[in-house]
Amino acid sequence: MPIPHMPARRIAIVGAGFTGSMLAAHLLRCADTPTSITLIERAPTPGVGLAYSTPSSAHLLNVRAYNMSAFPDDPKHFLRWLWAHDEDSTVPPSGHAFVSRAVYGAYVRDVLAQAEAAAPPHVTLRILQGEAVRVAEGGDGVRLRLSNGMAVAADALALCVGHFPPAPPAVAAEGVADSPRFIGDPWDHAAVAAIDPEATVLVLGTGLTMVDTVLTLENQGHRGRIVAVSRRGLLPHRHEETRPFKSFLCPDVMPRTVLDVLIALKADVRRAAAEGLDWRSAFDALRPYHHRIWQFLPPEERRRFLRHARPFWEIHRHRVAPEVAWRIDAARRKGRLEVRAGRLRALDLTDDGIEALVEAPPSRLRGLTVAPEEIVAVQGRGLAWRVRAGAVINAAGPACDYSRVRHPLVRSLLDQGLARPDALRLGLDVTEDGAVIDARGSASERLFAFGPVAKAPFWEMTAVPELRSQCARAAQRLAQAPLPTRSLTAPGRPRRSPGAGSARVG
Ligand SMILES: Cc1cc2nc3c(=O)[nH]c(=O)nc-3n(C[C@H](O)[C@H](O)[C@H](O)COP(=O)(O)OP(=O)(O)OC[C@H]3O[C@@H](n4cnc5c(N)ncnc54)[C@H](O)[C@@H]3O)c2cc1C
Repeated sequence: MPIPHMPARRIAIVGAGFTGSMLAAHLLRCADTPTSITLIERAPTPGVGLAYSTPSSAHLLNVRAYNMSAFPDDPKHFLRWLWAHDEDSTVPPSGHAFVSRAVYGAYVRDVLAQAEAAAPPHVTLRILQGEAVRVAEGGDGVRLRLSNGMAVAADALALCVGHFPPAPPAVAAEGVADSPRFIGDPWDHAAVAAIDPEATVLVLGTGLTMVDTVLTLENQGHRGRIVAVSRRGLLPHRHEETRPFKSFLCPDVMPRTVLDVLIALKADVRRAAAEGLDWRSAFDALRPYHHRIWQFLPPEERRRFLRHARPFWEIHRHRVAPEVAWRIDAARRKGRLEVRAGRLRALDLTDDGIEALVEAPPSRLRGLTVAPEEIVAVQGRGLAWRVRAGAVINAAGPACDYSRVRHPLVRSLLDQGLARPDALRLGLDVTEDGAVIDARGSASERLFAFGPVAKAPFWEMTAVPELRSQCARAAQRLAQAPLPTRSLTAPGRPRRSPGAGSARVG
């Protein structure tokens, strides 16, 4: 029961994508003392974030509908919502379908609206449109400055800022990144829509963002060649039906090396095959252990995983819907999409576009088809080739190295020493509870980060099934933790050392 006249706990959330919106929704449900939530979003539509704001119906969820509930304690919530909104009865009742991401965005918005409507009077939500650009911490809380001049004061601030556009390639010559022919943000729908339909398009990256990009180009009637390149030229695998399978892994004896993880995984895959199941069932059986596996790996092993195993992990773990895989296969078969392996060596402006120089070592030549006029040099048994493109789209994956992110909010946090990048450059350095760790190594009691920006202690903190649990736990803590309140706070920055239960990487 809220205490009458008790000052409201002020919680500000920057970013109203899935993470920020669900954190707000959970706070609206669980806060039992007066709480005022301010949700700040720069985009015109809160609730959808980067993933679910796509205007293209070709962009499908890469997780089956039955596993996309916003609530960990109500796994059928999204399915029920879908059925209630499925006027044309297109969604199969099993929940095995991959529905469009735009539909999921509508669901997230609805969840937030319903949580607000059902909230008790002592919990309020204010949604502000604006871009947070500066943060300051003082004895009486956190102050946030928005680019439109507004200021927000809070007792606790949750950074749910999601994904930043990929870092520009280091080999790009001067002027390339500023050229209208170079699309540095692959989620800039207007820029992709403006590409000449006859132009050759070079896509940097062959992962999920490349897949989205190709579908967008195809849907807008692109007729020119599309060449996608990445170091290994690996494409995400497709989803197939999986069956329940119990991993061999014993939660009490976690592997301590990447090699041991792979050995355990391979053993599971073999056992699954013996039972007539394919590797996906074995791979998915590991999901409940992902965070524990990561936490048990020493820093050097985590580094080894990122250096050697990451691309293979990504294509097996983050798979595409079968209908999406089918379209990508068809585009390749018809010669509209070429997927090539090689290392980008140069990007230069030309009179009518951008020229890329790519080197493919002998180990990457298998399956590589390059037109003779594109071959620049045969290097030993490797090959250097070039492609002249009317447009280049950087789809190399979100930038995670915060030391290189130029956004003013990030700069403000790092320059003041309020935050620091994690040692492996996966995002911000945070504890397992999401408390932001400052430049001196102390965990904040006021600054928090959740979602992909806070994946350092977990590795897998990207998809809804992981994020929803993190949001639910975080809301409980933010609503109940004895935050340093205005009246109780002594001058100076309140800090605590990351103690037991908090993780520091590196
Ligand atoms: C293209 C794409 C597709 C995906 N598809 C799936 C899927 O099918 N299934 C799945 O489970 N996961 C998917 N994911 C994973 C995704 O990480 C999560 O599902 C989830 O959307 C992440 O939400 P988020 O709120 O943390 O980040 P985001 O969606 O990136 O949202 C962050 C929000 O913060 C806002 N913001 C950032 N900085 C500021 C600022 N300074 N001031 C104000 N606002 C700010 C942004 O405008 C944005 O709205 C996908 C990711 C991407 C990039």
